[in-house]
Parts: sequence; C-alpha cells; structure tokens
Amino acid sequence: MTLTAKVLWAMGLGIIVGLIINMGGFNAEGSFVSEYVVGGLFYMVGKMFITALKMLVVPLVFFSLISGVLGIGDIRKLGSVGAKSFGLYMLTTAVAIATAIGLAILIAPGSGANGTSSATFTGKEAPPLSDVFINIIPDNVLSAFASGNMLQIIFFSILLGISLLMVGKKAQSIAEGVEVMNEAMMHMVNIVMSVAPIAVFALLAKAISELGLDLLVSLAGYVLVLVMALMLHLFGTLMFVLKLFSGLSPKIFLSKIRDAQIFAFSTASSNATIPVTLRSVTKRMGVDNSVASFTVPFGATINMDGTAIMQGVATVFIANVYGVELGLSGYLTVILMSVLASIGTAGVPGVGLIMLSMVFVQVGLPIEGIGLILGVDRLLDMIRTSVNVTGDAVVTCVVAKSEKVLDLEVFKDTNAGVKEVLDIDENAEKVLANVVHKMEKI
Ligand code: ASP
Repeated sequence: MTLTAKVLWAMGLGIIVGLIINMGGFNAEGSFVSEYVVGGLFYMVGKMFITALKMLVVPLVFFSLISGVLGIGDIRKLGSVGAKSFGLYMLTTAVAIATAIGLAILIAPGSGANGTSSATFTGKEAPPLSDVFINIIPDNVLSAFASGNMLQIIFFSILLGISLLMVGKKAQSIAEGVEVMNEAMMHMVNIVMSVAPIAVFALLAKAISELGLDLLVSLAGYVLVLVMALMLHLFGTLMFVLKLFSGLSPKIFLSKIRDAQIFAFSTASSNATIPVTLRSVTKRMGVDNSVASFTVPFGATINMDGTAIMQGVATVFIANVYGVELGLSGYLTVILMSVLASIGTAGVPGVGLIMLSMVFVQVGLPIEGIGLILGVDRLLDMIRTSVNVTGDAVVTCVVAKSEKVLDLEVFKDTNAGVKEVLDIDENAEKVLANVVHKMEKI
C-alpha cells in the first residue's frame, strides 16, 4: 500500500472513531475517553505530528529558496516568477470570493433567522496596508526565523541567494552545501511523513469527536452553501485556470495533489503543510525547485482561496441573519478587504475568523455575528485549508509551465515520487564515516 492509501484509510478510520465517540456521547467532560483518549492520547499524537511538520518549515523554506535562487540560471526570471504568481494568487482569490458571494446571495442562507448569538468573539482591526508591506522586511533575521514569519524569511532568503550569486565562484562550496542541506530537509520530510497514518487518525478522531453535530444541523444552510462554493472553486475555477493557462491535465493534477490536501485537511494549516505541498509539486508533478521554493511558501501566506470563500459566504449569511442590506458597494468592499487581508495573515488554523472580523468592521456588520458560526468553524477550516493549498499548487504549476521548468515526463508518470525512500545506503554510510574520521585526524 502506498503512503497516500494508508493515510486515506487512517483518515476514514479517524472519522468513524470520532463519530462513534461523538454520537455515543463518550466524550462527556471528565469522562475517561475525554480525559485520556481524546484529550490525552489523540491530542498528544496529533500535536506532536503538527509540531514536527512546523519544525521542518523554516529550514526547508530557507535552504530550498537559496537553492532555488542559485539554480534559476538567470536571476531576471525571479521577477517574472514573482509577478506571475502574485497576479494569479490575487486573481484566483478575487474570483473565489466573488463566486462565494454570488452563490450565497442566490441561495440566501440565514434569511428569516433572528440574529442572536450567545458566543462571544473579539474582533481585530485590519492593519494598515502600509504595515503589511513594511513588515515584509525583517528588522532582525533571527527573530523572523524564530517566529516563523514566512514573508520575512522569503525576503531574506532570496536576498541571500542573490548576494551569493554576486560573490560568484567563491560561493561554489556554499552552493553545494545548500543543495545538500535542501536534499537532507526533503529526506526529513519523508521521515516525518512516514508516521502520518497514525497522526492523521489521531487528528481526525479528535476533531470529529469534538464536533458539534447539532450545531452542524442547525447551521446546515451556511455549511452547505460554503461547501458547495468550495467544491465549485476547487473542481471548477481552479481546474479551469490550470487547463487554460498551462494545458496540464486536471485529472493527473488532482490525483497528485491528494497528499497535500489530506495533510491540509488534517492540520488545518497551509503553513504546516508547506513541506508536503513542496514535495508534491516537485517530486510528484515535476516542478523545478527554482519556482516551487518560492511560490509554495509565498502562496501558503498570501493565497487563501478557501478562506476568502468563507469570508464571502459568512458575510452574506450574517447579513441575512441580522437583516442588514449590504448592497453592491458593501460586497465590493468585502472582496477587496478579503483579498488584502489574505496577504497580511499567515496560513494557520482559525485565521479565517480573524480575517472575517476585519471584514465585518469594514462593512459595519456586528462582530458578535461571528459567534454564530464559531462552533462549526473547525471542520470548515479543515476543508478550506485543503482548497487553499490546492490553489497554491495550481498557481505553482501554471507559473512553472510558463517558465518552462515543469518536467512533463514526471507530471505524467503516475508513480513519480510515490515511494518514499527511508533507507540509508550502507556504502555511502561508510564513505561518510571515513570522511569524518579523516577530518578528525587532521
Ligand atoms: N487554516 C487556514 C490556512 O491555514 C486559514 C483559515 O482559513 O483559517 O490556510
């Protein structure tokens, strides 16, 4: 069985176990299952796995970006990769939210309901746009790395890569070292991914067991429209963009992006999924690292199609519940705000709600309204994060194809990158041991 198949089974099993715990009422507060199984074992295993993925992100992005810049061949291409990916990320996000608003207006979930919410939610004001741009530059590189600020890490790594190019031939040994480190990080991704079946099981069993099923039913209108809009974007818009701009087969793409989607679904974090997305587009789809090392972490931060869709549907839903007329200008503000908010916020769990509060402040909807959808957000976060990473991968493929750095043979090969090699070559092991011993003698 391939790893993907094992993870899929684990996912199904996790959902079933989660449902049994939830519907059987085994998860009552203070019960054994709630304390030791869901809140103990499942929580621990899931959290360890997500932490391990997050551990990979910063060094992986750092080494792969430097290696990408060094490997691009012509540094002027960096500008076109940046411009194309930025343009496509913004475009797909804007289309996503417009689709969502359109669909939500058509179906009108929440109309006739009477807006009262018991849950509380404290909103956040959008930072000024100038801050978003200023914050791309780290004032302290170590703190950027320590806090995992993706845009700052991208900025510094690209600059370092360019500076190494300027150093020229003297930088050759560093380039070799970076390449080796990049390869080593990819192996580390494989090591962490090899325990995914157990972790995905734990993550899903925990998430589903804690799901408010009653809430899901009472908010069925909102949930259904949102899921419909997400699926429409995933299978319609994104696949259309892929086919139109790159000519690549959506069917092959969808089969190869599955790993990243499953990891995004289980972790609800585009950022934590970066290692898997990077692996999927390079090893499975044949995108060259010079493009992927930039577009994937960039997309995880600034591109959130699924989240934007949630903003659109939630705005219409809450406006209906509270009987607020937003009008065309209100909706246009929502589109603009969501696109801008997605640039400045990182792809971590639950960030969509914070973005939503920024949108609400802007269009004058009651922030308490967010309390209404809070209870079902965990599950929806998982679904929209899968759409977010799919968008990142689509744009990565389109840009790579247009830059002529997508290996079609690899893309078409169904087995490419399926097998994870975790073995250590015994001969190489001896050679490296010799190197170390020789060095020690000097
Ligand atoms: N969890 C999402 C992501 O990481 C963001 C969100 O919608 O909350 O992409």
